[in-house]
Order: sequence, then structure tokens, then C-alpha cells
Amino acid sequence: SDIGSQKERVVTEEEWLQKWEMGNIGFHKEQGHPLLQKYMHILLNGRSGLRIFFPLCGKAVEMKWLADMGHSVVGVEVSEQAVKEFFSEHSLPYCEEPVPEIPGAKMFQSTSGNISLYCCSIYDLSSSIVGKFDGVWDRGALVAVNPCDRQRYVSLMVNLMEKSSSYLLVTVSYDPNKHKGPPFYVPESEIKSLFG
Ligand code: SAH
Repeated sequence: SDIGSQKERVVTEEEWLQKWEMGNIGFHKEQGHPLLQKYMHILLNGRSGLRIFFPLCGKAVEMKWLADMGHSVVGVEVSEQAVKEFFSEHSLPYCEEPVPEIPGAKMFQSTSGNISLYCCSIYDLSSSIVGKFDGVWDRGALVAVNPCDRQRYVSLMVNLMEKSSSYLLVTVSYDPNKHKGPPFYVPESEIKSLFG
């Protein structure tokens, strides 16, 4: 199928911040995502005490689910509003500190220590800053990344994964000539070539 019409599209960080300010966040699922419930066992694979990464996390309630199960959650999100709403909507006390390696970035951490949300661009992160992960929940992340940045995004994600990690990816399927995205249409063939 032809994804030509979306290939050149760019959504700036400023536009994402505006979406949060305007409350234009139709992607947020208050009840969490049914597909994570369905495939949780694949993500965890019987393991406990995992480090789970949420790229482009928004205020995804699934971060609370996994933390409550005893895992340690790390997310990254450009919108500070989103990060603060996450903690306040779950009544979680948190502290806020600068990230020495990333000028201008802040890290918000629950007082209990098991949820750390980096407020910066995902492209500022590396495994030397956030370590490696046993699992990734990618919903609204690969499909939200600008099409021109997909390879860079995927290379980073592969770098952030432990050898034994599991990666759950949610995509959407639709006619890319009828909607401009995001979410962008990422055909399965492209997912295979991106991740190898
Ligand atoms: N995964 C979340 C949010 C999906 S919407 C969920 O399932 O609800 C995509 C989110 O990515 C938005 O909150 C947007 O502010 C954020 N975002 C966009 N570009 C980003 C970037 N380069 N780095 C970090 N976050 C980004």
C-alpha cells in the first residue's frame, strides 16, 4: 500500500505540547489498554522485578499497573504537563530533579522510587543514562514518531533492550491516504525491516 502521503509529515514537539495544553489527547486511555492486559504474560514471561520502558509515555495508566505488580517503570515524555498529570491523577507523591547528562531535562520520580519519568525528547536518551530494559510497551510511540525518524527511533529502542527483553508493539491499520496521522500507518513489512 502507498504510504507516500504520510512520509513527509512532521509533527513538532511544540505541536505535541499544544495538544496537551488544549486537552486534545484523544489517544489517552483512562481505563488502560486491553491489549496490554491480553498480552501481559508475554511481556513478563513469568519474570518478576523487571525494568519496563514506556517510550513516548504520555500519562499512560499502564505504568501504574506495572509498578503495582512490583516492576520498575521508566518513561519518557516531552510534555511536563503530561508527566505531572500522571502523578497527580494517581495521587502519587514525586520528586523532581535535573538530568546532568541532558541540558534542560528533568526526571520525575515517585517517592517510592519505582516510577521514573524523563521529561525530554526520547532522542536525548541513551543506555548510559537510563540503562537497559527487560520489557517495552510501545503503544502510541512508534506510530507517533515522525516517519522520517523511525529508523533512528528503532535503533535507539534496540540499544535500550537487554538480550532477553520482550517488546510489545501496538500499531493501527487504516488507509493512509484518508488520514494524515498521527497515529501514522506503519505497515507490517516496514516493522520487519525496521527491527530486523
Ligand atoms: N503512549 C502514550 C501516549 C501516546 S501519544 C499512550 O499510550 O497514551 C504520543 C506522546 O508522545 C505524546 O504525549 C507526546 O507529547 C509525546 N512525544 C512526542 N514526541 C516525543 C519525543 N520526541 N520524545 C518524547 N515524547 C514525545
